Amino acid sequence: MMEFPEIKERIGKIRSEIPGVDLLLATKTVDTDRIRYAVKECGVGYIGENRVQELLEKYDRIKDLPCEIHFIGTLQKNKVKYIIDKVSLIHSVGSVSLCEEIDRQAEKHGIVMNVLCEVNIGREESKSGFLPEEVPAAFEKMLSFSHVRPLGLMTMAPVCENREDYIKFFTKTYRLFIDNCVKKVDNRYKPVLSMGMSGSYREAAQCGATVVRIGSAVFGERKTKNDT
Ligand SMILES: *Cc1c(COP(=O)(O)O)cnc(C)c1O
Repeated sequence: MMEFPEIKERIGKIRSEIPGVDLLLATKTVDTDRIRYAVKECGVGYIGENRVQELLEKYDRIKDLPCEIHFIGTLQKNKVKYIIDKVSLIHSVGSVSLCEEIDRQAEKHGIVMNVLCEVNIGREESKSGFLPEEVPAAFEKMLSFSHVRPLGLMTMAPVCENREDYIKFFTKTYRLFIDNCVKKVDNRYKPVLSMGMSGSYREAAQCGATVVRIGSAVFGERKTKNDT
């Protein structure tokens, strides 16, 4: 296997900074040699892809890995069918109609799909997800589908200049998670709060994230611009 010592070093550093928080590697644009190394040599338990096409291209080279594969990007309804049997958690469910389609496809496959309700915590026009005030009804609705298992919330905070602003957005998201999700999640499963990326994982962990999604802080800067 190819060796990538810098990947191991960066993962070790991040883990030491946020003990107890799960580390999901955001692997968009990352080649499968590096992904395999991170999982097999560094023991990473979760990887997240955010484009359907890219996931399908890589899938044969990652499907045997001893980790969960999650979907973390914007998902079009008509593409749910391609990933429904390949991922174990969809973080980015930002509409009831998407949830309906996931339920439909999961039923076809005889499975129950784990999902998170995506919150647009910064109320950004450019981002998908439910507005904070929509979360209570949205999560309740998601709980009503028989082939979908809502486990919690996911958010992409706006890019902030300073720590305090991240902490403000993450604290708001944590509040929504406690008030609307924790007691309602099927008690055989651990509630999930997915927030924090390379520039904000320490703040997210401090505010109660159960999983952070990290790409560039482990794999280096991505070359392509339009990659989220
Ligand atoms: C790319 C991506 C991340 C990680 O971003 P980095 O800043 O590279 O750590 C996290 N979440 C989602 C949804 C992403 O698309």
